[in-house]
Amino acid sequence: MLNRQGRPTAAGEAGTQAHPTFTGNKALAQIEPLLFEIGRHDTTGVDIDEPEAFTPRLGGLERKEAIGLPGLSEPETMRHYVRLSQMNYGIDTGLFPLGSCTMKHNARLNERMARLPGFSDVHPLQPVSTVQGALELMSELGRYLMTLTNMKAVALSPKAGAHGELCGMMAIKAAIEAKGEGKTRNVVLVPDSAHGTNPATAALIGFVVKPVPARDDGSVHVEDVKKLLGPDVAAIMLTNPNTCGLFEPQVVEIAKAIHDVGAYFYCDGANFNAIVGKAKPGDLGVDAMHINLHKTFSTPHGGGGPGSGPVVLSERLAPFAPVPFVRAGKNGFELVEQASDTDEKPFGRMTAFHGQMGMYVRALSYMLSHGSDGMKQASEDAVLNANYIRAGLSDLMSLPFGNKPCMHEVLFDDAWLKDTGVTTLDIAKAMIDEGYHPMTMYFPLVVHGAMLIEPTESESKASLDLFIATLRDLAMAAKTGNDKERFTGAPHHAPRRRLDETRAARNPILKWTPPSPVAEAAE
Ligand SMILES: *Cc1c(COP(=O)(O)O)cnc(C)c1O
Repeated sequence: MLNRQGRPTAAGEAGTQAHPTFTGNKALAQIEPLLFEIGRHDTTGVDIDEPEAFTPRLGGLERKEAIGLPGLSEPETMRHYVRLSQMNYGIDTGLFPLGSCTMKHNARLNERMARLPGFSDVHPLQPVSTVQGALELMSELGRYLMTLTNMKAVALSPKAGAHGELCGMMAIKAAIEAKGEGKTRNVVLVPDSAHGTNPATAALIGFVVKPVPARDDGSVHVEDVKKLLGPDVAAIMLTNPNTCGLFEPQVVEIAKAIHDVGAYFYCDGANFNAIVGKAKPGDLGVDAMHINLHKTFSTPHGGGGPGSGPVVLSERLAPFAPVPFVRAGKNGFELVEQASDTDEKPFGRMTAFHGQMGMYVRALSYMLSHGSDGMKQASEDAVLNANYIRAGLSDLMSLPFGNKPCMHEVLFDDAWLKDTGVTTLDIAKAMIDEGYHPMTMYFPLVVHGAMLIEPTESESKASLDLFIATLRDLAMAAKTGNDKERFTGAPHHAPRRRLDETRAARNPILKWTPPSPVAEAAE
């Protein structure tokens, strides 16, 4: 069967579809080909005047032929992108239980604030006298972050959590070098349960990474840390609450042990959303911590950017904070751009300019609209919601560390699927058929077949009840084994079925090649 491009339809993709359609579309779920497949070389959506005669100055290097970009009319172009956008799943379409990622609602108020022309239309090279309001907002946001964490300094410019990790670890490196220990202190301790970005960050700037083994209860023990401590240790990178959804009970003892050998405590603050308003990392002995504004303070996730991952620093690291930063001066706010403009010892700079203004506005808007009592309640509700899910599922699904309270996310393992022939991956794919984005799976690595569920505070009780009921239905079906195909064949209803994600990542096809003509292929 041929679709509207005269090519075989993707009806095969539709799998169990009882009545394959001529177009390959499934009602409003339309198949979307590439622009190259639907565009034509002789078409364009815009009318541009023929350029007047001119003499190129490229010395013969100028292009002589068209480069083969596909042309489409404006409505065709618009439909292509709108259809693609409708294939997406987002927090605006449904519950997004991706653990550790904190997919919470982004209030529309924040969006309105970010679009105020005084914030959205500023240019990073504008004279500072014309952007005093924007600088004041950055200063205010920094003050709030330092207050919520009880830390001494903040670097706003990093563009994501992982970039913030790099910033914090570079501040630690600068502090170690300033003490003349740059050559000898080169080991960074990273627990087995850490996010992959932690060891990657430490390795990237030349540290040797040593793993701290996980204990059976999912936490890091001070005795295990002490065994690895010595004059060669630069820092520990610890996530708290950790990626098992548990608050590290020995965090204060670990901080003390680290400080006793002259090392620093880097805290991965991605899970700060569980403790905002309840506990301050500075009080726990943290020296540096990144804050994912897109997780804790509701700004949209950037998919690699534009995101924002400010880093807060303790008194010991504050002098090494990177430029640029905002300072209150005699004539209003100033931007400190050069190390020579300050008495401190900035280690350098992380970004060309000052970071993501739009994210700063959204985060401060979130903070101001919640107030300190509201932020505290958001943390409490996030934890309550995760525990509600735990309580609703713990009789059917297994909890690796026992049925005890968790923080903002609940971690199941796959012991409950033993001998069913159904895997964590199958459950995740079956959730897609039910209209849910899957939870985080196979992370953290310390748990077999991990399923990490983070509902966030955004979800109502009704929404949580439906989610729990759905997972209960899936769990019981998996256990009875009557309809294995529901799992091993899932997703049955998605536009694309099981993709070979590993092959796609290992062997990406980044160039489109025209298919051979249909007639030829038929010969
Ligand atoms: C999300 C996350 C990161 C990385 O943050 P990005 O903004 O995605 O770079 C690091 N650690 C943990 C535990 C996370 O959940």
